[in-house]
Amino acid sequence: MNLLVVGTVAFDALETPFGKTDKILGGAATYIGLSASYYLKKSNLVSVVGDDFPQEHIDLLNKRGMNTEGLQIKKGEKTFFWSGKYHTDMNTRDTIETQLNVLETFDPIVPENYKDVDFLMLGNLMPSVQQRVLDQLPKRPKLVVLDTMNFWMDHFLDDLMDSLKNVDVLTINDEEARQLSGEYSLVKAAKKILAMGPKYLIIKKGEHGALLFNNNEVFFAPALPLEDVFDPTGAGDTFAGGFIGYLASTGNISFDNMKRAVIHGSAMASFCVEKFGTERMLDLSDAEVQSRLQAFKDLVQVEFDLA
Ligand code: AMP
Repeated sequence: MNLLVVGTVAFDALETPFGKTDKILGGAATYIGLSASYYLKKSNLVSVVGDDFPQEHIDLLNKRGMNTEGLQIKKGEKTFFWSGKYHTDMNTRDTIETQLNVLETFDPIVPENYKDVDFLMLGNLMPSVQQRVLDQLPKRPKLVVLDTMNFWMDHFLDDLMDSLKNVDVLTINDEEARQLSGEYSLVKAAKKILAMGPKYLIIKKGEHGALLFNNNEVFFAPALPLEDVFDPTGAGDTFAGGFIGYLASTGNISFDNMKRAVIHGSAMASFCVEKFGTERMLDLSDAEVQSRLQAFKDLVQVEFDLA
């Protein structure tokens, strides 16, 4: 089944307790596409960059099977830039700077040959832009997953509430779930958010794993305990890419298969944080992926009898 990924392709500058980078390749769609590439040989990308974006980065996306026909390159404009600094615990970060640049006027155009979409991943972007992509599709995809963040809840809540009516799966972190619902309990928050439109909700809790809800079931997957976390940037997007990549590769959107997809997403995210930026996601071997999935199986499996 095919996959369309929409989101930012960016320059990031990162600082963690382990070091600092200058402008490197980043962006939500970049991480999503790289992660999904371990499940699907091909995916389609809709995004925008400026003419300061190097061809070598585009080549790298193409090498991982991402079709960049839907990547607009704006002459004389600058690529979206984000810089962030992590605290010692690596769970919290400050955004140092966000330069929207090309994003300020981004009008997503879905190329004709992309339009028959099976799986749609709407990565973190302005909610009205996410909606404009949905509006261009002649038929509803089999599954629509939307990722968003507190920034859009603060400034564009009405637009976000409108797009939530059209999505199947919403992925947000625990703080954002609390903000969106006004509830501290994540169980109560999930109930309220599911009433806003999505059929499924994934609440990401960083090193504490992820929760998957529908109206009457809940599933929890831990994050793999890692000795060293180098840079958490992109972990959420990498999770989403593994989640939707696995679902698209199997074509099965049952709740049980979504549970497996959450484990695949978590396994991918556990690789992402091991090096700076996208570095770790560029050429994982099949053996590495398989052994990481096995580690997850060992982590969560336990047999016990009920008395
Ligand atoms: P994550 O660590 O999964 O939250 O994602 C980090 C990525 O999101 C970085 O590569 C940034 O380029 C990108 N990003 C940061 N802020 C925004 C924003 N406001 N809208 C879209 N993408 C963003």
